[in-house]
Amino acid sequence: MDWYAEVKKHHKMQEIVVADDGVIRFRQNAIVNFLLEAGPFDLNQISMMGFSRADYTQLMQLIGYSVSGYGELSTSPSKLVRRADRKACELTDGPCWCGDDCDGQS
Ligand SMILES: [Zn+2]
Repeated sequence: MDWYAEVKKHHKMQEIVVADDGVIRFRQNAIVNFLLEAGPFDLNQISMMGFSRADYTQLMQLIGYSVSGYGELSTSPSKLVRRADRKACELTDGPCWCGDDCDGQS
């Protein structure tokens, strides 16, 4: 099973929204974010603890990562990045930039 299929099997992609700061992000889970900020583990530590990449990449979504930043993480499957980019593109005014010719759809 390829990496994207593995992620897709276990986790739905988190909804993509324009966040309060105006940045297009995955919809944050406030509880997950609270737990991360409360510690005792930070993301670097968590990434070294042997959790599956599928769970790790979902965590990035649950903490409300920006879609543009998500695309730069080595743990993000490229197909999932493309899906997220397309959703972000659909939320953006102006011409399509996602390369998927998505204008006029939402
Ligand atoms: Zn587009």
